[in-house]
Amino acid sequence: MSWESVIGLEVHVQLNTHSKIFSGSSTTFGAAANSQASLLDLGMPGVLPVLNAQAVRAALRFGLGIHAQINRRSVFARKNYFYPDLPKGYQISQYEDPVVGPGYLDIQVDNETRRIRITRAHLEEDAGKSLHEDFGGMTGIDLNRAGTPLLEIVSEPDLRSAREAVAYLKGIHALIRYLDISDGRMAEGSMRCDCNVSIRRHGTETLGTRCEIKNVNSFKFVEKAIQYEIERQIDLVESGQSVVQQTRLYDAERNETRPMRSKEEANDYRYFPDPDLLPVLISEADIEAERLHLPELPEARLQRYQHQFSLSAYEAQVLVSNKDLAVYFEEVIATSTEMAPAAAHWIMGDLLAGLHRDSLDITQCPVRPEQLRGLLQRIADATLSSKLAKQVFSALWSGEGSSADAIIQAKNLKQENDESLIQKLVDDVLQEFPEQVSAYRAGKEKLFGFFVGEIMKRSRGKAAPAAVNAWLQRRLQPSADA
Ligand code: ADP
Ligand code: MG
Repeated sequence: MSWESVIGLEVHVQLNTHSKIFSGSSTTFGAAANSQASLLDLGMPGVLPVLNAQAVRAALRFGLGIHAQINRRSVFARKNYFYPDLPKGYQISQYEDPVVGPGYLDIQVDNETRRIRITRAHLEEDAGKSLHEDFGGMTGIDLNRAGTPLLEIVSEPDLRSAREAVAYLKGIHALIRYLDISDGRMAEGSMRCDCNVSIRRHGTETLGTRCEIKNVNSFKFVEKAIQYEIERQIDLVESGQSVVQQTRLYDAERNETRPMRSKEEANDYRYFPDPDLLPVLISEADIEAERLHLPELPEARLQRYQHQFSLSAYEAQVLVSNKDLAVYFEEVIATSTEMAPAAAHWIMGDLLAGLHRDSLDITQCPVRPEQLRGLLQRIADATLSSKLAKQVFSALWSGEGSSADAIIQAKNLKQENDESLIQKLVDDVLQEFPEQVSAYRAGKEKLFGFFVGEIMKRSRGKAAPAAVNAWLQRRLQPSADA
């Protein structure tokens, strides 16, 4: 179709500081309701906020991670609105002067690099939570989350599809995990996303009217919500109606977006500088000190994995996108980097499949990096064929032995590499099936697999496949009988 979709994301990231952005209360997730709310978080009058330097540091690190301009002077502002979970009557945020100015994030989509511009990233406090269940028709208020530091990251409308939006979000997620500024746990609300979506005819420059889908909290839902919204807008316009600027909610159960409020009802927040807080000043020395302490970031690691380890762009991307997975990979190859391609192959194959099947994340993987390394060594030295290796891997997974060697020994899984033994096996099988041999020589080539199967059966799967293939090929040549 001739429509182009245009998407800009506003991502809220909860920073992993121990205490809140303006008070000393703990930020630990899952505590008893209101057990982590101080007088300040309760909005008591006359209590003054004190800025948490770690939150500023985290924002600064993020800014460096996206090659952004860091503003030397930024200002906290009050965003005024009433809500029961916001007892002060305003949220402290940044408006005109955020800590982080323009920057960008490169993303990979279909083996192509796209540069997504980031408008700004600013610090703000989270609100409390309204609890609508378990209170017999009333609403409970939990202020534990009130004052948790957030970094809001606003992109330019540079994304062109739901898939690109997800790739961008995953890129942000990887970056905050590498920078160690957030735990990034979306299921716990540590990263939430507002999706702005519009459409326009291909080739048009001006932006269409957008809708904003609030608070989407998983990669999957971001993709589905945006896809739904794009289709909804195209249907509207193609049937002669027009898109109304609106805030909408995504309903995951019905997979649809629904209106929440329209532009006319939009809030006027009456931002003004918060008189309780001084401007935040960041010096050149602060920036350089932080730059020195940056770890290797996903972009650099992506390049390194391709060049140093000869991994494909796709393999590197999968491994790098999850910091814990990258750490696991590097532990596997810690003593021998020439194992990198095999390690990548096994991690992206059996290992990720196993994690997916058992709903585990890589930090809970039952096969430890050194165990996988031991397995790879036995493949490399031809003790194991890939088939036998799969058996050893699943035995490691279910804890049937402490190492590949222990399992190989206990289950007697060593590959048979003895050439003369293998040759005898092959010859025995060919003698046993003379008709099939003639048929093969007469052109029925798919019988090759039948012979291999019979040979493998007799060796209990242990004959070295390469040796079997080579000898079998030789013996099946027309002249081989003589
Ligand atoms: P607001 O002040 O309402 O939050 P902004 O101009 O700050 O609006 O934009 C918020 C987000 O919406 C940004 O990520 C921006 O890229 C995106 N955006 C703005 N206009 C459009 C549009 N027409 N289509 C898609 N996204 C848009
Ligand atoms: Mg906004």
